[in-house]
Amino acid sequence: MTERTLIKNGWIVSMDPTIGDLRRGSLLIEGERIVQIAASIDAPEGCEVIDAEGMIVHPGFVDTHKHLWQTALRGVVADRTLVGYFSDVRRDYLSRYRPEDVYLGTLVGALELIDGGTTSVLDHSHGVVTPDHSVALVEAELNSGIRGVWAYGYCPVEVEGLQAFASHADRVKDAFRIKERYFNSSDSSLLRMGVAITEQNLLPLDLTVNEVQSALDMDAVWTSHTHCGPGNAPITRGFHTLVGKGLVDHRAVLSHCNEFRVDDFDVVRDLGAHFASSPDSEIALGIAQPTPYRDALLAGVQPSLGTDCVTCMSGDMYANMRMALTFSRHQINDGPGSNYETIVDQPVSTRDVFRWATLEGARAIGLESEIGTLAPGKLADIVLVNARSLNLAPVLDPVADLVLHAHAGNVDTVIVNGKVRKRAGKLTDTQIGDLLGRLDDSRDYLLSVAGEMDDAANLTHEAEEWSERLTSLS
Ligand SMILES: [Zn+2]
Repeated sequence: MTERTLIKNGWIVSMDPTIGDLRRGSLLIEGERIVQIAASIDAPEGCEVIDAEGMIVHPGFVDTHKHLWQTALRGVVADRTLVGYFSDVRRDYLSRYRPEDVYLGTLVGALELIDGGTTSVLDHSHGVVTPDHSVALVEAELNSGIRGVWAYGYCPVEVEGLQAFASHADRVKDAFRIKERYFNSSDSSLLRMGVAITEQNLLPLDLTVNEVQSALDMDAVWTSHTHCGPGNAPITRGFHTLVGKGLVDHRAVLSHCNEFRVDDFDVVRDLGAHFASSPDSEIALGIAQPTPYRDALLAGVQPSLGTDCVTCMSGDMYANMRMALTFSRHQINDGPGSNYETIVDQPVSTRDVFRWATLEGARAIGLESEIGTLAPGKLADIVLVNARSLNLAPVLDPVADLVLHAHAGNVDTVIVNGKVRKRAGKLTDTQIGDLLGRLDDSRDYLLSVAGEMDDAANLTHEAEEWSERLTSLS
């Protein structure tokens, strides 16, 4: 018999315009899907009942820009700039990562997301040092039980002057091997294959084109760090070149886009592509100009939200929403012609930002008909937040409460695809103690090799050096 779960007496924030919020409501799950939402539902026989008295019930978050493999190095570049991040994490530490390190980082990172109410992720997985790493990365994410897209990272990684792949074409072949091995079965895995292209201008254009083309050949979501480098280095620039080649459509998720202005976002909108912002890392690391919310919104492009990397920012989506709300308001209110001294309502509402973290994220990864809101027929990715907490009570507006006041520690229950993954504040089926011990070992190993690393000069120099080495190896 199909398993059923009834959530009752919760304050339901559906984010579905026809359902709205139910101050006191019930939600019935059958198997993987939500089948009913109403003020009151009688529990069918043999149904598990979750009493959500005092809880806010909301759709699981969708994180559209994340590098899960970095978890063992939490905070390692807390006081570094983007140049420091690039040279330390992307170049030096990553070249020392073993398959077990990317495995643990990805697994624990994904569990951290589930624990904090994020049920789907677009993992820009650029920890592919060798073919063994690609296997470890994808198996970790499959084992975590998170939904989303695992995007094969093409950026070459050099280990002691050598690469495990003889040519760039071999990396593309490896991506197809992974696709064949893990993503071809018809049993509906929660995870789909995607592609994360190498930052533009680190490789010759024809290789970048090949990378994007591989995603289109797989009919997969592809993602790219887009127009987000500081200074004069061309790294990450070149979006319009890809547009000119007809490579950008609804399958593109463009991260950061810090240099984009309204007319660039007009192109994004017309092509049906998507914008993933990570305001925390973008502002803190000094990625060019900060997140261009004003320009995106003027062009009618809705942002989605990503928590980027725990090496430099929090993985907590509630904290990330707060940053997005605060910064977008500052930018718009302080911008030309805002007249904010004379208007009463904010140009960006808490509900707007909550939608960026849920439905807009779902849209970015092509799953808006399946997740992102709570409605009958949708997959059951659901979060219960304990609002009987000192930082959340009393509730006046549940969305304002979630965006302004909540944190991951308030998450009581998380359901992914109809399955309870967290109950009464604890993940249900995972040996966390054991995993954290192994993660400590991974951290200790990585720190033990850190002494040999060079310091960064500047990003222009770094990018030139990378480009030269990677090109010669391609
Ligand atoms: Zn990133």
